[in-house]
Amino acid sequence: MNCNYRYCGEVIPPDENGNRRYCNDECYMAEKLERSKDNYAVNKKSLNEIKHVEKILSVGHKKYGSEIIDCNILRVEKMNWSIITGTTKIDGETYRIVGRYGYIVYSNNTIKIIKL
Ligand SMILES: [Zn+2]
Repeated sequence: MNCNYRYCGEVIPPDENGNRRYCNDECYMAEKLERSKDNYAVNKKSLNEIKHVEKILSVGHKKYGSEIIDCNILRVEKMNWSIITGTTKIDGETYRIVGRYGYIVYSNNTIKIIKL
């Protein structure tokens, strides 16, 4: 077994418990700190991605309102279709929500954007 602190990795001598994951508390705390830094980076990245998608939707909505438009209009803006912050059902249609906007993609490659 090697120490789980990513910058240590020393071999941990077997002890009576046999399941130590770190050399000592210092390594444990250091790894914990690295993990929270990782989480912060991930959260910041996804927050930026949400903002990016929300911006695309807001620009599309400003231009076309709630008209049904071609998906490619958003695709050229590098729309990230995997970003979603929720869903809502309006008049029997389920919208994907990103921030203050919702959209629905129809099977014929068109999309409708609404402001929530
Ligand atoms: Zn260590």
